Amino acid sequence: MAEELDTDVCVVGAGPAGLALSLMMLRSGFRVALVERSPGFRREFHGELLQPGGQRVLDDLGVLTAAAARGAASLRGVQVLERGQVLLDLDYGRLPAPYDHLLALPQAHVLKELLAACRSLPGFVALDGHRIAALVEKRPGSPCRGAVLHGPGRVPVTVRASVVVGADGRFSRTRALAGIDAGRCGCFPHEVLWLSLRAPRRAAGRVRVHRGPEGVVLVHDSHPDRVRLAWTLPQGRTAAAAGGLRRLRRELAGMLPEFADLLYAQLGPGDAPVVLDGSAAHAREWVRDGLVLLGESAHAHGPVGAQGIGLALQDAAVLHPVLVAALHAQEPTAQRLAAYQERRAPVASAVHRMQAVQVRAVFGDGPRPAGALLRARATGLAVRTPFGARLTRRIAHGHDPAGVRTDLFTVLPAHRGRRH
Ligand SMILES: Cc1cc2nc3c(=O)[nH]c(=O)nc-3n(C[C@H](O)[C@H](O)[C@H](O)COP(=O)(O)OP(=O)(O)OC[C@H]3O[C@@H](n4cnc5c(N)ncnc54)[C@H](O)[C@@H]3O)c2cc1C
Repeated sequence: MAEELDTDVCVVGAGPAGLALSLMMLRSGFRVALVERSPGFRREFHGELLQPGGQRVLDDLGVLTAAAARGAASLRGVQVLERGQVLLDLDYGRLPAPYDHLLALPQAHVLKELLAACRSLPGFVALDGHRIAALVEKRPGSPCRGAVLHGPGRVPVTVRASVVVGADGRFSRTRALAGIDAGRCGCFPHEVLWLSLRAPRRAAGRVRVHRGPEGVVLVHDSHPDRVRLAWTLPQGRTAAAAGGLRRLRRELAGMLPEFADLLYAQLGPGDAPVVLDGSAAHAREWVRDGLVLLGESAHAHGPVGAQGIGLALQDAAVLHPVLVAALHAQEPTAQRLAAYQERRAPVASAVHRMQAVQVRAVFGDGPRPAGALLRARATGLAVRTPFGARLTRRIAHGHDPAGVRTDLFTVLPAHRGRRH
């Protein structure tokens, strides 16, 4: 039987962006229906490197300490190496405490804490196992008044809401239903193949990016007693590399001799690597009357510099006061919501530009001498100069750091501890 419910905000997608925004809106006294396609809010591997800018947003929400207590690895910074020589060294120890490190924090830990905090508040409805199927609008393009979902067994549920937030990731169905183009650009023509290995007593305390003739492999400690490897290959090559286990082990062991024993001992036929399509995108429209795109549904990035989670959390922090004001005025129009896009779209573009430079520097794409020159300059600059400190700050905190407007909270959170 068809169901109906009324709410203030219908958030589609329970990733970092959707859950963080849900919690902010609930604490500001609004009702939220959160829609997530996976039953039980299960999270597939979606990366875990959390930049200081994202840590700050979670800390403002009072969930960082509890999420990290579920298990995390603290990392001092990022090094890029070629044949054992350090080309680039971003030392996060130069940043002000407490956000002076990267965290390898499984997203499942973050999302569980955010969800638990949402569940503790009145006005929250969790619709897991539901997918968005249509927007509620009089005719295509007229103001959005909610969403039609398909629940288990394709039972339709109509959620009537003042505003629908599409936080359903880089392949956003909400965006497609609104007829908004993803705005894909070819800034990162690579795919990334992810693996995890048990590695007791091998912690390096840093993210290490190894450049070699077979590509670029990122390695970082991961909780508990593991390492994660991310091998970046040109688009289309990952399928071939992942297809042959022997070849995969041999090529990775060639690039990472220090992990050869683990690769040969642990990598078996059941360990299919996760492949990430790292293509970048920037939707032209992020807001319409009664509709907002948030996080990766508005702008997607390649994996260089681990920006996605932090950007998604900061987007939520910037949208929150804009949405609160629009809902108080009972006018969630494109005009009122535009302040969010005006502040965040330039940030997304700046990250695309920064990643394009990083790709050329680290991956050596483009003419070889240019890549070599960039690498040489990047090394000197990042290690020694104030520019290096600025670059580290920018990668760590983002181009426009954003904190949570806790002054707008009317429902006080249970105290869960904050980092000092
Ligand atoms: C393998 C991999 C590794 C990564 N590593 C890192 C990293 O180390 N650091 C980093 O910062 N970023 C990393 N990223 C990127 C990061 O995961 C994203 O930038 C971030 O999760 C974006 O958050 P989001 O909330 O916008 O979207 P998502 O996290 O993608 O969340 C979208 C949610 O919407 C749900 N959904 C999708 N379609 C529907 C639908 N039709 N109806 C209802 N729900 C739907 C999905 O199930 C999902 O839960 C990685 C990504 C991948 C895939």
